[in-house]
Amino acid sequence: MGKTLAINAGSSSLKWQLYAMPEETVLAKGLIERIGLKNSAITVKYAQQVDKKVIDIHTHTEAVKQLMNDLKTFKLIDDFNEITGVGHRVVAGGELFKESTLITSEVLQQIKSISNLAPLHNPANAQGIEAFLELLPEATAVAVFDTAFHTTLPEKAYRYPIPNKYYHDYNIRKYGAHGTSHMYVSQEATKYLNKPIEDLKLITCHIGNGVSLSAIKGGKSVDTSMGFTPLAGVMMGTRSGEIDPSIIPYMIENDPELHSAQDVIDLLNTKSGLLGVSEISSDMRDVQNSESEGNKNAALAYELFIDRIQKYIAQYFAVLNGADAVIFTAGIGENGCREREDIINGMDWFGFKIDDEKNKRGCVGNIATADSKVKVLVIPTDEELVIARDVEAFKK
Ligand code: AMP
Repeated sequence: MGKTLAINAGSSSLKWQLYAMPEETVLAKGLIERIGLKNSAITVKYAQQVDKKVIDIHTHTEAVKQLMNDLKTFKLIDDFNEITGVGHRVVAGGELFKESTLITSEVLQQIKSISNLAPLHNPANAQGIEAFLELLPEATAVAVFDTAFHTTLPEKAYRYPIPNKYYHDYNIRKYGAHGTSHMYVSQEATKYLNKPIEDLKLITCHIGNGVSLSAIKGGKSVDTSMGFTPLAGVMMGTRSGEIDPSIIPYMIENDPELHSAQDVIDLLNTKSGLLGVSEISSDMRDVQNSESEGNKNAALAYELFIDRIQKYIAQYFAVLNGADAVIFTAGIGENGCREREDIINGMDWFGFKIDDEKNKRGCVGNIATADSKVKVLVIPTDEELVIARDVEAFKK
């Protein structure tokens, strides 16, 4: 019982959603951006209202204070104690966390200790956790790991073909990410496929700023495109996805601006993908706008992006030996009708075809033609709801 906050803390942002539980009613949601920079942007949405303001928020702790005061101002709570649960998205759980976990100081230290597995995310997730522990020490605090859903991967999928000691002594293996999203949309898919999850083979495509695909058999993740870190797999907004690892020392030897492997990894994480190739933006809408104005780099970035996703879908048809449905979710997966069309068209040999009308209308559910052997589903992801549910399970 009570109200639960689902939190997704980034390095300079804090995204939140307030639920009345166990009813699962969304009472409000919001975003604090540009934490630590001048002119932080604060948005609170509740009951058809949108409040936006700009003030300087220096730290995550200040952001949490601001959020809690806003909840009071907008009469979403009368007292801080009404928030009985806080769930935190944590990107990497490594081999330490195979399921959602009650946060203690030891758990927090462990989350920090595996920051190398998600250098863009885990330190920020930990800052969010610390800020809430300070302000709401009595609330049930739960870490929900993006990697947890992928702990069912078989060894042949999670091991890399490198000497065994690097797995045994250094824990180098595929962990994957976006697990909460892949799990949610695969479970939702049963509503459209009239089969229990145990009987389904699904290819889930989470295509947003981060992009990952999963092969899901009987409700369990059996392969996924992200790897040891979320840098692996397909091309993304700012991340390269897979490249030949020999490129890394070659770049250091030949580009005087790059001094270490870490410099290259930073470049592959933050300056590559759509941004690196288009030289315009990491945001798909900006890339498409430039492309329509005749920008060749933007056109190439778009082509590469679609190509990499198609290849992973094809891989997962092999991993699963066929599939009942391909599922699109996240910013581009849910909204990009051109991207869906370009991904699916040209792969019709695999037995699926998009209904242009349904695709363009942007409807949720099956957008494949009636004679398509494989269904094509658009399912909005809801990672926050999964987080709130996991917190609820710990409150009982
Ligand atoms: P996410 O990380 O899930 O918030 O997704 C962000 C990505 O979705 C950005 O690249 C956006 O440009 C993209 N996106 C959002 N809406 C649309 C749309 N209507 N068409 C194409 N891409 C979109």
